Amino acid sequence: MVSALTAKTNPLHQGIDRYDAVVIGAGPSGLYELHLLREKGLRVLAIEAGGGVGGTWYWNRYPGCRLHSESYTYQYFWSEELLEEWQWSEVFAGQPELERYYNHVADKYDLRKDILFDTRVEALTFDESADEWQVRTDQGDTVRARVVVATVGMLSAPIYPDVPGLDSFEGEAHHTSRWPHEGVDFRGKRVAVIGTGASGVQVIPQIAKDAAHLSVLIRTPNYVLPLRNRPLDAAESADLRARANEIHDRISSTVLGFTWSPEPKPTTDYTPEELRAHYEKRWQEPGWAKVFGLPHDILLEDGPNKTYADFILEKSRPRIHDAELAEKLMPKHAVMAKPADYDMDNYYEVFNQDNVDAFFVQDNPIEAITPTGIRLRDGRLDVDVIVYATGFEVHTGAFKRIDIIGAGGVKLKEVWDDKVVTYLGLMAPGFPNLFLVGGPNGRAASGNCPIAFEVAGEWIADTTQRLVEGGYARLEADPVAAQEWGRRIEQDGRTGVGARSEVSSYAYGTNVAGHKRQFLAASIPLPEFNTLLREIAETDFTTGFILSR
Ligand code: NAP
Repeated sequence: MVSALTAKTNPLHQGIDRYDAVVIGAGPSGLYELHLLREKGLRVLAIEAGGGVGGTWYWNRYPGCRLHSESYTYQYFWSEELLEEWQWSEVFAGQPELERYYNHVADKYDLRKDILFDTRVEALTFDESADEWQVRTDQGDTVRARVVVATVGMLSAPIYPDVPGLDSFEGEAHHTSRWPHEGVDFRGKRVAVIGTGASGVQVIPQIAKDAAHLSVLIRTPNYVLPLRNRPLDAAESADLRARANEIHDRISSTVLGFTWSPEPKPTTDYTPEELRAHYEKRWQEPGWAKVFGLPHDILLEDGPNKTYADFILEKSRPRIHDAELAEKLMPKHAVMAKPADYDMDNYYEVFNQDNVDAFFVQDNPIEAITPTGIRLRDGRLDVDVIVYATGFEVHTGAFKRIDIIGAGGVKLKEVWDDKVVTYLGLMAPGFPNLFLVGGPNGRAASGNCPIAFEVAGEWIADTTQRLVEGGYARLEADPVAAQEWGRRIEQDGRTGVGARSEVSSYAYGTNVAGHKRQFLAASIPLPEFNTLLREIAETDFTTGFILSR
């Protein structure tokens, strides 16, 4: 049943029942897509579950949250004016600055008028008789759209430990990605943090400053690399602005859209002394230099990986005073078998504080959350606050949490619970006119997300315009092309140190209890992915997609 929008959160859209396109989400990708579609003169509505723009940077407002990409590489490059007027204060901007940036963009381009805030899309149903999607929201509205662009975020569907009693806890409980806007006062409180991934490593030192006692529950100790953040002064900012085109060209040409790209020269081309000097140099450099600024075989071969892992451990161990604890906190898996974490030289030091204890849940599992805290197999933690830094159902979760029903009544969740199949991560066969941004097995919006989405976002906008104005009914992924793409992805998933590792990793979906192991990421370099998209558009969608009237 389709009714005109009541649009409680945006009176400008009241009474409208049909759009050319609906964009789901107003994060970095959604805002850009909304802007692009509007510039083409299309009727478009964005629907955002949060109360503001920024996506990841709206939701993840825990203390310590900050970028791992250099700020000046994680920004929009499509507006000279924007590049000219925005000045980043640090090499790696913190969450508040990023949220300000996306608010600034929304204001400057008057994007808010076409966004429904505080509105979650609950269901998408493809109406085959009209070749349109029915988009149902949690506000009781349903609108129609020829095209839906689901810019729902790769890291937006939070997961919690699969243990009983989660709702029974009588204290405060917060997931890092659902942080209260008013903040959390940890002063004088007993706190437990579950999870020591990228978010945990950022939030733990902040909580340890204030809490009366902090219990850190660690399942898989990971590599923690120094971020090397620092302020950017006016002269440096001016230079970065002047070099924006050069920076854009650089990040458009790397595998993941970061400044750094694995070096073609293997470790065997270095003497041991040269290699050591190279590691030392990179160690002092910012961010991903310490992973992607190194010989490529470190990510592929066990021997070189082990040598580099030993180098990292040599740097990390001395930071923890208790040698036995230090050993336990050292990762045992290969470097980048799961994404490395970054700290501000303050994570390991926390474990030297009197008010902090570590619990290793591989040996002493969490059995339940109770009204007073956490029950471990050996012992009990009574706490006032539990922080879940337990991550996300990455790649698939945000899509599966919408009830998406495609052609023939097929449910996306049911298909994907069996096996995830997409073409380029952008469309799933049987779900016409639905673009999955950050979808599994794709490159759009993964890695350094904004640059990864630049070409894909433009491609989606061009394609949508073509569909709507060219009188076409459907664009869909060719099932044969999707099968072939899946085979290529499976091959990618058997390559590199991550493929041989048993460690839980969201690239394989194994961080979520009960998920089948399947490679959900994609290894195709960004430039190659973008070339593919351009070729598809140039060949009138005869490659991999079916365009029909
Ligand atoms: P994550 O890396 O998946 O870490 C989740 C942590 O929770 C892991 O230590 C995990 O242990 C643990 N965990 C999960 N379930 C558990 C359970 N039942 N019992 C005990 N421990 C449990 O998630 P995240 O830290 O939120 O980061 C996710 C991704 O977000 C990062 O890789 C990064 O791409 C992105 N991120 C980026 C930034 C940034 O750019 N500044 C900041 C934060 C996050 P296991 O390792 O054993 O699964």
